[in-house]
Amino acid sequence: MTTALRFEHSYAEVLPGLFVPWQAQGWPDPQLLLLNTALARALGMDAQALQDPQGVAMLSGHAFPDTTRPIALAYAGHQFGGFSPQLGDGRALLLGEIRDPSGARHDLHLKGSGRTPFARGGDGRAVLGPVLREYLISEAMAALGVPTTRALAVCTTGERVLRQFGLEPGAVLARTASSHLRIGTFQFAAARGAQDMLRALLDHAIARHDPDLAGDPDAALKFLVRVTHRQVRLVAQWMGLGFIHGVMNTDNTTISGETIDYGPCAFMDFYAAETVFSSIDQQGRYAYRNQPGIILWNIARLAEALLPLIDADETRAIARATEVIEDGRARYRDAWLDVFAQKLALPRPDAALIEEMHALWTGQEVDFTSFFRALPAALDDRPEVLRGLFRAPGPALEAWLARYRAACPDVAALPQRNPAYIPRNHLVEDALAAASDRGDMRPFHRLLDRVQAPYTEVAGAERYAQPPARDAAPVVTFCGT
Ligand code: AMP
Ligand code: MG
Repeated sequence: MTTALRFEHSYAEVLPGLFVPWQAQGWPDPQLLLLNTALARALGMDAQALQDPQGVAMLSGHAFPDTTRPIALAYAGHQFGGFSPQLGDGRALLLGEIRDPSGARHDLHLKGSGRTPFARGGDGRAVLGPVLREYLISEAMAALGVPTTRALAVCTTGERVLRQFGLEPGAVLARTASSHLRIGTFQFAAARGAQDMLRALLDHAIARHDPDLAGDPDAALKFLVRVTHRQVRLVAQWMGLGFIHGVMNTDNTTISGETIDYGPCAFMDFYAAETVFSSIDQQGRYAYRNQPGIILWNIARLAEALLPLIDADETRAIARATEVIEDGRARYRDAWLDVFAQKLALPRPDAALIEEMHALWTGQEVDFTSFFRALPAALDDRPEVLRGLFRAPGPALEAWLARYRAACPDVAALPQRNPAYIPRNHLVEDALAAASDRGDMRPFHRLLDRVQAPYTEVAGAERYAQPPARDAAPVVTFCGT
């Protein structure tokens, strides 16, 4: 019985004005398509009960048990640099919070659950392809050790929903997150000049993510520091995987430091710092190389929202917040060096070696993921595979390799620090098309199996480790909203 799921509602209890209570949509034919039983168990949920009719009704947004308190979250946000004072969950609902066996709190949230008062022109729907994309990529990120929201379930609704390329199956994603607090949540309160709301939100966020700061007279500034540290570390991890989020708007930037809202995101195959996949990112604002600058820009927007809580004297508040952002820049640099030092299994970060490696790749269309997997053999005097990844391998590569060898990497550690399998975009597209167009989930499951164990190479699965042909690499992804 899903009524046995014990929900708490700490957000709804203390943050009036930051949500709208809402109800289930009701669908023609809600069906459970995927359930992440491992996640359900890890969270202490009864995976069997989630598959009961009531469980499926809840996960699909068809009908909710009384223990839930469905709300559409209010938030604001800078989208591609322009500020919207009111965005909010236009097609999503928070059902409540559950506690895992360790006592940690997790939001249970549905995406695609129907129109809410924040829907603006949108239809409130999600379709199967993008929902499966979020499931696959968020689970891959979790397996890669990247902080992320998690995918609990996918349900189909029985509706067909009109999208850019025709009618597609309607679907709902049930996801969990350590919270759905975003920079945009703080911007919502700040934009209304609602100091009490802002203070309550800060207290709630601190209770949830930084409880040791509760009661600290300098809590707002220290909280800004914590969010900065979590986010720069997160983006450094993205950079170490060639991950491009695609929509780094402030409403998609969490307080927790988890990756959220997998839309037109993708992993880069062939290294090019200016890579952009998203069809809506015409200016390349969220290109691979821009992600570190953008996260600091987003943090600056959080700082602006927090100013009145940082110091009653605005000039002083600005000076103190500016220092945090400046420090964040240095923090990012350290995190980035640390990520690549780990990937190279170096005994200590070597900035010159790491920078030269990036310079080596430039203009060579090197497959980012394969480069690191080819290192053990190259260090073992078999550099052919590594050389083969370059369009024009030359003396610079040999010189770098000699320098790398001299830096005494821990060769045995390399395969556990560099994935063989990432959700390569051409494979993702194939898997989603099979599911969406033909109802064939087998390619999806095969790919999911690989990316859930990304470091373990499996015989016969070579094609999952290989990049597409250079001229066949997908260049555009769609957010599908
Ligand atoms: P996203 O880019 O997915 O983070 O969404 C940005 C904003 O648009 C959020 O407020 C969403 O709730 C809203 N939104 C996106 N797609 C839809 C849709 N199909 N119907 C209603 N609102 C939507
Ligand atoms: Mg979003």
